[in-house]
Amino acid sequence: MAIRVLPPDVTGKIAAGEVVERPASVVKELVENAIDASATDVRVEIRQGGRRLVRVADDGAGIPADEVELAFARHATGKLSSAEDLFAIRTLGFRGEALASIAAVGRVTLVTQTSGESVGTLVRLEGGELIHREGKGRTPGTVITVENLFYNTPARLKFLRSDPTEAGHAVALVTAYSLAYPEVRFSLLKDGKLALKTSGTGELYDALIDVLGLQVAQQMLEVRAQAEERDSGNGPEARVWGYISSPSLHRSNRSSLLFFVNRRWVQDRSLAFAVEQAYRTLLPTGRHPVVILNLEVEPSQVDVNIHPTKREVRFRNQRLVFAAVQRAVRRVLMDQHPIPLVSNRPTVMTADEWARRRRVVQAGNSVDPRMVELGMEVQRPAVRGPLTTGAQSRMGALPMLRVVGQLSQTYVIAEGPDGAYLLDQHAAHERVLYEKLKRQKESREVPSQVLLEPLTVELLPRQAAVVEEHRDLLAQWGFELEPFGGATVLVRRVPASLVDRDVAAAVAELLDGPSEGQEDVSWEERTLRVLVCHSAVRAGQTLSLEEMRDLVRQLEETSLPQTCPHGRPTMIHLSARQLEREFGRR
Ligand code: ADP
Ligand code: MG
Repeated sequence: MAIRVLPPDVTGKIAAGEVVERPASVVKELVENAIDASATDVRVEIRQGGRRLVRVADDGAGIPADEVELAFARHATGKLSSAEDLFAIRTLGFRGEALASIAAVGRVTLVTQTSGESVGTLVRLEGGELIHREGKGRTPGTVITVENLFYNTPARLKFLRSDPTEAGHAVALVTAYSLAYPEVRFSLLKDGKLALKTSGTGELYDALIDVLGLQVAQQMLEVRAQAEERDSGNGPEARVWGYISSPSLHRSNRSSLLFFVNRRWVQDRSLAFAVEQAYRTLLPTGRHPVVILNLEVEPSQVDVNIHPTKREVRFRNQRLVFAAVQRAVRRVLMDQHPIPLVSNRPTVMTADEWARRRRVVQAGNSVDPRMVELGMEVQRPAVRGPLTTGAQSRMGALPMLRVVGQLSQTYVIAEGPDGAYLLDQHAAHERVLYEKLKRQKESREVPSQVLLEPLTVELLPRQAAVVEEHRDLLAQWGFELEPFGGATVLVRRVPASLVDRDVAAAVAELLDGPSEGQEDVSWEERTLRVLVCHSAVRAGQTLSLEEMRDLVRQLEETSLPQTCPHGRPTMIHLSARQLEREFGRR
């Protein structure tokens, strides 16, 4: 579409704003323009955090000689023509403001050529005014150089942070776009040094390796778009795909949560929240996952025109989109769940490796660790596909464990095909009971038992109020509580798992309401967790070999054997390889 100035009825509907806040904003606008021009190779260069120079070179469509000047006019765009187009935007740009705004605050040189032209165009602008123009031979594509950003607006110059900080923003931006567009080859030069380079194979996983490194990429789990989400046509739901970190990999802040809505990088807190909800109980508190998720939404179902820098979007049906995201993430996490290693660099085994090790043990052979090592070594350089998910490749399964003994009356020591395992007996039992009770509750079959002698429990007034309010719910969980004057209740019947435990403490905690930071946990979930915690074996309790075997066997049958319901690990793993290293055997 030829570039033209938008009519006022359209510009009036555009969420206008100053797009150039900092050097990274220039990078963003220029990279978006390159992508909109169907570039397959985008080279970005910055100097001194970008304030000295930002250059973006692409091999895209180029701008025809007779449209070059118009491209720098305000509200001039080749991507939008009517107000209706605003409701189904398929390009990254659409406001026709970026080049004008950039030319107003920096010295711009543009060289461009379309494939149909024998000679390209070079223009120079200063203060938004054209100061030079010449025909210039070049291969098709566009190079825009912006020098001395904010040279004419000293006030804004003052607001810039240090060069490394500004460069950091630019790097984050190019990183995000190289993950959003794996089919585009990106490179970023920072003060003459290569800071980032992707291969442009079109595979997100390759881009992931380029950007995050092989070690991290190997710990990522693939999220595949599900058929039902794909087939829903122009429904409000999102098709969700990408990669998420396995729970062994986490970061101290949210900067590694990247979301692309129809391939536009958006920084949306509520999407991050939706994903972190799906990780709940799997990550230590205060830690955050690494997430690269694409959301494909029917363009008419998402409004990208609400924020000046298009950083935020609004979904027509926010709730359904979040639900789709959560479902997708949760599904993958449930399918695949590695055990943390005793090491600050946890390794993740693929489902195939688990399967191989299991087979080795089941065949009754004693395991030759070298064989296992060999498997690892072969696996590593050959890595191409990420960990896959699906019915046949569940990692939820534990390796075969042989119980060796108990440690400090708190941990179960076990041997597996690939080293030693230490299980936290309380956490492991919590996981077992959690899934069992949850199932029983869902089928309304929580076994309960009448206490031989009713137990009197003194409550606080607010706890007593909860008894009244939730009498039915408590009955479903197997409790029979009877008000006994004032704030005292008589406990007549309890869930069978609580018999012989501290019933009074469990009841008091149950009626206590959510603790701090747990306000968003449902009553149902909280009840389950309290029951489980009070029913599980405690640390300090001696277990017989038989009891420990039983515990391990039951744990093997759970869907998430590696964490307790609160997200703490149930076990840690000391690998054969690590033992060898520690003892200097290799
Ligand atoms: P917008 O991207 O919102 O249309 P811009 O001011 O960023 O507005 O760009 C104005 C126009 O200039 C674009 O619509 C496009 O036609 C043209 N243009 C800008 N950059 C490039 C580029 N790298 N390659 C080809 N055309 C470009
Ligand atoms: Mg643009």
